Amino acid sequence: PARPAPPQIRRLDESVINRIAAGEVIQRPVSAVKELIENSLDAHSTSITVVVKDGGLKLIQISDDGHGIRHQDLPILCERHTTSKLSAFEDLQSIRSMGFRGEALASMTYVAHVTVTTITSGQLHGYRAQYKDGAMEGEARACAAVKGTQVVVENLFYNMSARRKTLEKSGDDYAKIVDLMSRFAVHHVKVSFVCRKHGVARADVQSIATSCRLDAIRSVYGVNVAKNLMRIEASGDGSCAFEMEGFVSNSNYSTKKITVVLFINDRLVECGALKRAIEIVYAATLPKASKPFVYMSIVLPPEDVDVNVHPTKREVCLLNQEGIVDRIQSVIESKLRNSDVARTFRDQR
Ligand code: ADP
Ligand code: MG
Repeated sequence: PARPAPPQIRRLDESVINRIAAGEVIQRPVSAVKELIENSLDAHSTSITVVVKDGGLKLIQISDDGHGIRHQDLPILCERHTTSKLSAFEDLQSIRSMGFRGEALASMTYVAHVTVTTITSGQLHGYRAQYKDGAMEGEARACAAVKGTQVVVENLFYNMSARRKTLEKSGDDYAKIVDLMSRFAVHHVKVSFVCRKHGVARADVQSIATSCRLDAIRSVYGVNVAKNLMRIEASGDGSCAFEMEGFVSNSNYSTKKITVVLFINDRLVECGALKRAIEIVYAATLPKASKPFVYMSIVLPPEDVDVNVHPTKREVCLLNQEGIVDRIQSVIESKLRNSDVARTFRDQR
């Protein structure tokens, strides 16, 4: 039987390549918000405000009071692989900033309309520039500006109709954005975060800069969470070096859904193994199967973490994951058992 002739292999257009890549970095509105917040944090902001319309599909507007962007850098700001944070691959080993790939802003310009307004210290006025497909459109124009940078992302996925349709059907990202900002607010206590819907005065996240973690948790997650927390600490050494500190809910606290706010080396991440280990401890230790609230900050030697495993940087790879998870699990378990004993004594008096 005759075989079909082999199809010709062609090189994709640069614009197609960039749009495909952009769709991986920016999967949905909440991923754009995460990248934008991380940029504001990297710029040493102390105040970050996010305004969202239509779950972020229509508008995401983020304003910060960080160091701003130099006028001469605006033309290449949204090109792919332009960054102020990384120059050699080896730098990844010691990188403290959350960004490093120079892909986030570029990606947004391939799937949305992006406008940046920024002012650096000592300047009398700021500049505003618009971007599309990685390039600045026209010139940056002088304009009035307060301290820092404002990025406006409009009509996300206007040119990816399948993605837009799925997102429109799957329901609003606003709750995810509120959840994301709540997490950041609990870790970065010295930064004040505000998140609200466009056209609505009331904010859904409003944290006030503080030096007390418990105050931050109270202002974001409410008194009912904050009054039922116990401080935890754990550490390891040698091949399993780490430091962990945080808060876990006690036996008085009860909800249907587990919350694990996890930062590893100041990056907001997820760790399925750790979450499962925590769930198991609570299920085994507490009488009613109540789900915990957990905030945890883990610090590891940079060489034990690979931050570069996932395009959204959501998952990090830990070198000694099993050892660390076991250690944390047993610390939580003994804390829970002790607090339960304390409560029983108290209740019997
Ligand atoms: P990355 O964060 O990986 O460097 P991005 O595309 O997110 O890449 O941002 C590109 C560059 O734009 C950053 O390296 C930074 O210099 C600058 N930048 C982006 N957002 C801000 C901001 N809010 N304030 C100051 N500079 C910013
Ligand atoms: Mg970035």
